Amino acid sequence: MDDCIFCKIIKGDLPCTKVYEDENVFAFLSIEPNNQGHTLVLPKNHSRNILDVTERDIETLFLGVQKISKAIISGLSVSGVNVIMNNEPEAGQAVFHSHVHIIPRIKDDGLHGWERRTPYQNGEEIMIADKIFREIH
Ligand code: AMP
Ligand code: ZN
Repeated sequence: MDDCIFCKIIKGDLPCTKVYEDENVFAFLSIEPNNQGHTLVLPKNHSRNILDVTERDIETLFLGVQKISKAIISGLSVSGVNVIMNNEPEAGQAVFHSHVHIIPRIKDDGLHGWERRTPYQNGEEIMIADKIFREIH
């Protein structure tokens, strides 16, 4: 897409620190890393996010995420990774080309997320699970 900064990076029209590229996916370091080695993995085909990406692109995207996660863990000698995808602005998406964050983690690195807990009351979880289930085709 013409005005998409990640499409421009994939085409080589904007710079990046590239980590990996194959026929389907492209990966580079985030310019605002939450930890060193924070990598973004993208399908080469443009889509906005998880809601419109094709099945084929999401398959190859997550195969790439797995491959690069393993390489981050061994290459950077870290203990684990968070794999995160923000979808739509309310969920923190700022760049509207599908991408998955891989954030390297080490013990006691001080990076905290999703600390809030919102427990269910009076069995309402049954109703919530049902509302989701009914939409799955
Ligand atoms: P999100 O909030 O999930 O849309 O994440 C956007 C990510 O893209 C953030 O990690 C940004 O730091 C990163 N980002 C934005 N522009 C660039 C760029 N030109 N090069 C590398 N990373 C970028
Ligand atoms: Zn794009």
